[in-house]
Amino acid sequence: MTKKILTAAGAVVALAAIIFCVHAIRTNDNSIIDVTEISDYEQTITETISAVSEFIDPAEPQPVTAEQTAADPGIAVPSAVTAAPSTTARTPESSTVKPAPSAPASTTAAAPKTTAAPASSTAASGTISNYEYAYAGFNPRYADLNVADWTLTLVNRDYILPEGFEPPELVRSVPSVSDSKLLDSRVAPHYNDMYQAAKKDGIILETVSGYRSYSLQRNNFENKISKYRNQGMSKIEATQKAATIILPPGTSEHNLGFAMDICSLEQSFENTAEFRWLKAHAEDYGFILRYTKEKQSVTKIIYEPWHWRYVGVENARKINASGLCLEEYLGKVS
Ligand code: ZN
Repeated sequence: MTKKILTAAGAVVALAAIIFCVHAIRTNDNSIIDVTEISDYEQTITETISAVSEFIDPAEPQPVTAEQTAADPGIAVPSAVTAAPSTTARTPESSTVKPAPSAPASTTAAAPKTTAAPASSTAASGTISNYEYAYAGFNPRYADLNVADWTLTLVNRDYILPEGFEPPELVRSVPSVSDSKLLDSRVAPHYNDMYQAAKKDGIILETVSGYRSYSLQRNNFENKISKYRNQGMSKIEATQKAATIILPPGTSEHNLGFAMDICSLEQSFENTAEFRWLKAHAEDYGFILRYTKEKQSVTKIIYEPWHWRYVGVENARKINASGLCLEEYLGKVS
């Protein structure tokens, strides 16, 4: 009898030591435990309990073991971790490869230069999972870079360019002006034609902001968020307000290289001769006023009399005649 008690006591000590070890390993870093490891822990504990039981006479109940097992959270933890959806959901998401953009190879061959954002992937709904500004209610999907008419490529808060996107080729918008801003090489000649035509009429269409890189757009956007946060807004409020003025990285036509901010960044620009000239002639060179007063609820961008976007002459004339904004014209209002 004494021998049996000693054997049972020894077995209990052995079980406690194993439970302690498993618990210590588990608490070391929960985040790296995967399902396979958890299964291994459960398997180890099950095997240990049965091995210990063999040393204990079944005729003499040993409630201590059962009570200790129930009381020690170390035993229960593996199944609790397994039940947590975040642990099991992460594996398939992180293994999803970001889809290759469908644009011509030359457009997308450049390696992403900005890596600050977490890797994102496309969710089943088409929106991007783990999107960095999802907390503000933004859920973009990837812009279609393979549209039949490249001049109608749509980017906005709902349609984003792949991380690190760069236009195929960037050139000076006005070759005769050495500090003129860059545009996509397919767009720049049309801007230059417009610039030279305006100049003949005594109007200088100064290039204030053309192509902006993904990382510059991020800096501008983050700076705007910080400004509003410093004014006392919450992170969500600050981000939402910033996005009405500066679009999040990858969602701006400046990232695409299709848009130019001309002469000024003040709404009073609408009262100038330069603005009136643009209103009268820009469509003849393929440019439209993109963010109008009337369509702010659709574009979700403030009125920007300075922002002109290339869509080609035919589309520009049709869009202006229709009175629609680009989203409406393309039937892509969110
Ligand atoms: Zn602009």
